[in-house]
Amino acid sequence: MTSVLARVDDDLALHVPQFFCCNCGEAEDIRPVTTPLSKSHGWKPDGRFAFQIELPYCKRCVRSATQAPVGSIKKTLVSAILSVSAGMVAMITPLPSVVGAWAFFLVAVPVFAMIFGSYALQKPRGKQTSYQQPVRIVHVKRRAPGKVEALTLAFSHARYAQTFASANREEVERGVLEVEGG
Ligand SMILES: [Zn+2]
Repeated sequence: MTSVLARVDDDLALHVPQFFCCNCGEAEDIRPVTTPLSKSHGWKPDGRFAFQIELPYCKRCVRSATQAPVGSIKKTLVSAILSVSAGMVAMITPLPSVVGAWAFFLVAVPVFAMIFGSYALQKPRGKQTSYQQPVRIVHVKRRAPGKVEALTLAFSHARYAQTFASANREEVERGVLEVEGG
């Protein structure tokens, strides 16, 4: 299997080369894995653009296919909600009888730091170029839903980006596809 097709919309289908892992470059034991991509455009009703692409992954990188990037707002919110919950739990333990209202902060603050910090530990391993999905939609321009005029994809693996661009040379030359990488 050298390449599969990814349907982006009614008129646009992209060739997806299957020669090596799109995250780390490993060529042994690779398999196509459905990688859901999406990009939202503010609050417009047709603002969300999504498609799936069967990218090649090695055994170690399979998990990154579905690991959507987490924004800093979401990281802060998740950390805040969990730390406030932990602080409230601390208030019903015997701790407040010792330290009073400080019990809330004594528990909530370390929990916040721990969860927020755990996001920072999510780093790629070995030759991996990304802990999260090794591809993302940078930009999409649509005439109407299902009619993509221009699509920009960014790959974290530079050589895969080049391979992808040459597999879709025609689309790149037409200006429908732009590939960033590395
Ligand atoms: Zn890999």
